[in-house]
Amino acid sequence: MGEHEHDAMLWQPLDGQKVRCHLCGHECVIAAGKYGLCRVRENVAGALKTLSYDAVVAVNVDPIEKKPLFHFLPGTNSLSVAAAGCNFQCEFCQNWQISQSPRTGQIAGGQAISPEQIVSAAVNHDCVSISYTYTEPTIFFELAYDSAKLAKAKGLGNCFVSNGFMTPLAVETIAPYLDAINIDLKAFRDETYRKIMKGRLEPVLTCLKALVAADIWVEVTTLLVPGMNDSPEELGDIAGFIAKELGTSVPWHVSRFHGDYRMTEAPSTPLETLNLACRIGKQAGLKHVYCGNVAGQADESTYCPACGEKLIDRTGFTIRSNHLIDGKCSQCGEKLAGVWSLEGK
Ligand code: SF4
Repeated sequence: MGEHEHDAMLWQPLDGQKVRCHLCGHECVIAAGKYGLCRVRENVAGALKTLSYDAVVAVNVDPIEKKPLFHFLPGTNSLSVAAAGCNFQCEFCQNWQISQSPRTGQIAGGQAISPEQIVSAAVNHDCVSISYTYTEPTIFFELAYDSAKLAKAKGLGNCFVSNGFMTPLAVETIAPYLDAINIDLKAFRDETYRKIMKGRLEPVLTCLKALVAADIWVEVTTLLVPGMNDSPEELGDIAGFIAKELGTSVPWHVSRFHGDYRMTEAPSTPLETLNLACRIGKQAGLKHVYCGNVAGQADESTYCPACGEKLIDRTGFTIRSNHLIDGKCSQCGEKLAGVWSLEGK
């Protein structure tokens, strides 16, 4: 048994010692002795195991704005944790050293940190939530699930930052403990998902709808990669999907791309493209569109959708002032969509 090996959740046995994993949209069928596409789940003699259960590769205290989650307990800190691996292989990944390492032979790596230790660290560092982030929480689901359950019992919130390739079953399983999620909607073309991410679009859209239906607070991020997803038509498709299928109160973060991993030569996103995406989002009826990764060049504040008052004055990850009163506009009383307190959650 490997150092970080642990029984996996959400799988079923098939004939001939094969198993099917139901954690993500790949739904891998895995023969005995073989791995799933993520390389962190292995069929050991007919039973699925995770190889990265407590293999923690990053622990940091981050402002919640860094996730980004702008309508979830603004101005608070979130203990951010990750285990190695990912179910996607995005050519522009900004965390490829830890997300892709299991594919380069380092099966798990990381430091053995238990759910109890994660929750204690959050409490000791005055964090009001735990974020499962940097890599893909779907594939370190068991660690996230066990930690989230303990965290909830202590009154802490739980947040995922995810590519949204979770199955509806995975959403249903984590839903009682998950308060908020930021999903990367990386494109609106299935061929882009297949070619650049080695994933598919449809499971991401299904997951987003399931999260909203489960009453989990959802924010969406799109990294604008020049030539990949930044045409006005595709941006309009993304904004239209969010507005019609998820709701006009769901915040959309459009974020600036800088070359990384296998796309180091690609140009950074021009500011005009970010401004165009913001305009398209607003034309689609979205109430909150934010431009990210453009320090000092875009307004990242939150405005009242009813009267236009600036309610949360934000620069980068810093909150300069917050004029919300119990989640309502201090000027006109409009209730702003979001999670402003964990009371009653
Ligand atoms: S998490 Fe996804 S990629 Fe990994 S084994 Fe399960 S279905 Fe396959």
